[in-house]
Amino acid sequence: LDERPEAREHIFRSKLPDICIPYHMTLAEYCMEKALQWPDKVAIVDGNTGKALTYGELAVLSQRVAAGLMKLGVEKGGVIAVLLPNGCEFVAVFLGAAIRGAIVTTANPFYTPVELENQIRVASATMVVTHSSYVEKLRALDLQIITIDKHVDSCLHISVLFEADEEECPIVDIDPDDLVCLPFSSGTTGLPKGVMLTHKSLLSSVSQQVDGQIPNLYMTDEDFVMCVLPMYHIYSLNSIMLCGLRVGATLVTMPKFNLQLMLEIIQKYKVTVLPAVPPIVLAMAKNPIVLNYDLSSLRMMLSGAAPLGKELEDAFRARLPGAVIGQGYGMTEAGPVLAMSLAFAKMPFPVKSGSCGTVVRNSEVKIVDNDTGLSLTYNQPGEICIRGPQIMKGYLNNPEATAHTLDKDGWLHTGDIAFIDEDEEMFIVDRVKEIIKVKGFQVPPAELEALLISHDGILDAAVVPRKDEMSGEVPVAFIVQAAGFNLSEEDVKAFIAKQVVFYKKLHSVHFIDKIPVTPSGKILRKELRNKL
Ligand code: ATP
Ligand code: MG
Repeated sequence: LDERPEAREHIFRSKLPDICIPYHMTLAEYCMEKALQWPDKVAIVDGNTGKALTYGELAVLSQRVAAGLMKLGVEKGGVIAVLLPNGCEFVAVFLGAAIRGAIVTTANPFYTPVELENQIRVASATMVVTHSSYVEKLRALDLQIITIDKHVDSCLHISVLFEADEEECPIVDIDPDDLVCLPFSSGTTGLPKGVMLTHKSLLSSVSQQVDGQIPNLYMTDEDFVMCVLPMYHIYSLNSIMLCGLRVGATLVTMPKFNLQLMLEIIQKYKVTVLPAVPPIVLAMAKNPIVLNYDLSSLRMMLSGAAPLGKELEDAFRARLPGAVIGQGYGMTEAGPVLAMSLAFAKMPFPVKSGSCGTVVRNSEVKIVDNDTGLSLTYNQPGEICIRGPQIMKGYLNNPEATAHTLDKDGWLHTGDIAFIDEDEEMFIVDRVKEIIKVKGFQVPPAELEALLISHDGILDAAVVPRKDEMSGEVPVAFIVQAAGFNLSEEDVKAFIAKQVVFYKKLHSVHFIDKIPVTPSGKILRKELRNKL
């Protein structure tokens, strides 16, 4: 009998066969491998202005960036910050830095000077590529600033990179374990943490999604992929930008989300793939203006980054039956994709609403009981742990946090509670940290939120805990009411009460104008808790 603990572990895997991941390639080589086959194809088009860049132009531009960075003294392993809205500059700078062997740290351009300073200091970035309108926020830092639009005093202009000589593009000896990207986690549960991703991690993650004979996320060079999610967030950077380039698709970019503009762009460019977050799915399923557009080109709607309830997924399907909707589950530390819906596979599997997908290929998942530490089998919720070539090397300069998240056997502990059913589909219950504990019973806010937004009179909702003397914590809701409805607190409480066990009942309901969310689509519960 095998007595080793791992022999007793229940490991979940993809239903698709493993693939051969080309670890020997660098990330830029890998993503642009097929670009040479279609140099005249548009790689990126700005949805607002129509400005386009072909694969051939992008390849040359990124070599120029690599040459320019070297000239400016950026060494292999040097860190540059990219503080840009979506667009071709972002893509060219990212790829150019990767060719140089440098590391890109990305941040939200709307961060305050204090937030930016924190990230730039932790990451030890020496250069930032940004838009002139953000320069003032960066002045106090010891950084070389490069602007992508107009010339600004004591800053360099992007032409130092874009007009460098591609013939001088350095050939750098890059190891698969060298860092290429330093994204920061979203800061939903605490301060954002710097996550060390290597060439191997990102390349593996992309490969697990789009490579092989039966890709899990089947996209081709015929696709037009909407790029409205911010590229500075790892979801967009990986599953849209890098996956899109790898398959030779056209990325249609938007600098920020605006529902009407996005619908116009989908209609105009006949966008086929729409990677989104739950607030966008919500708008697509509920907002009446969606019906004014011809969205028949859309064949795939991907949701990720936060929980998407079964009810909302069904509502979207009823409205846009021509598009396959499904979820991916990602976490910055996991490179980032852990699971992807098999409805998107080249040979699609039937899937269930509310599932966040099946674990990606070349990876192992186990579900661990929080109390006993034992690994669980089908249909038993516990903490999801993943192991595979895509996961992070660790948190930057934070061995303590790394040791807390990555165990000695190579498992990444996600802090998310999920179960896996007999069809290998994963269902996220909620984050360990966000589960509300009512008299010792567990109440996942995501479950109540999904029920709330299934009500026609409720446009959006969030549930948070409130301290309670009797019960420890109790769930309370924030609601955005739909126009033409006049719901009372009692109506909302009764609507939930008839659908849930007693301890999940809402204790109060607060009406607000808007649920605060991060740009990556996550509810800012901290802000709501502070309102109580
Ligand atoms: P921080 O770790 O800094 O507090 P964060 O965890 O929100 O922030 P990200 O790495 O951007 O930062 O997000 C990963 C988390 O997003 C996952 O751990 C999970 O909780 C949530 N998530 C991602 N995809 C899904 C999904 N499809 N369904 C439910 N939750 C999801
Ligand atoms: Mg996290």
